[in-house]
Amino acid sequence: MQLPARLEAVFYDLDGTLVDHDHAARLGVNAWSAALGIEGDQWDRWAVLEKKWFSAFERGEVSHLGQRVERCREFIGRPELADAAALDMYEDYLAVYRANWRAFPDALPSLHAALERGLRVGILTNGAEVMQRAKLERTGLWLEGMVMCATVELGAPKPQPESYRAALDTLGVRADRSVMIGDSWANDVEGARRAGMHAVYLDRTGRDGASVSSLDELRWP
Ligand SMILES: [Mg+2]
Repeated sequence: MQLPARLEAVFYDLDGTLVDHDHAARLGVNAWSAALGIEGDQWDRWAVLEKKWFSAFERGEVSHLGQRVERCREFIGRPELADAAALDMYEDYLAVYRANWRAFPDALPSLHAALERGLRVGILTNGAEVMQRAKLERTGLWLEGMVMCATVELGAPKPQPESYRAALDTLGVRADRSVMIGDSWANDVEGARRAGMHAVYLDRTGRDGASVSSLDELRWP
């Protein structure tokens, strides 16, 4: 897919786009639930709860930590669990999740290609800066010149319009000179286009014909 001419900045989503979140999350939840005595692969159930509560966070209905608390409560079936206790338990999931971060093979070449063309590169991700930065550093994807735009710190998650505006301000670029690339149609395509940005939908399953299935398919201006 040919990227627009006169491009000044490219924003990448992180989870599912540069780093294989699902792989790490699956290992994380299965190790955690095995330690709790919950048998069998819990990924499908966890993925549903993750989507449910992360979407609530994206709509502004719960805080970033709040969605962790609610996910934990619902997963283990203990709605009465105190916030601190839930976050404490969630750490057991996170320990294995963190240990299994891995970059998608097309991520590093794509970041290099963007930087080599003199484009500003931002990471616009619905997460907290410390973890998202660590995720890139640990997987070898944090390169000189990249800018972290973590929406917990920006003040509004994608697809809220404020998130894209804050990211554009952070890089000092106009919306129409920037492109957002990511694996969420709502967050990385629809929301970005509403903010006036170009957008590329990454569907790694290759099911959607109107998208790219790999970052290798991007043709840089
Ligand atoms: Mg994503």
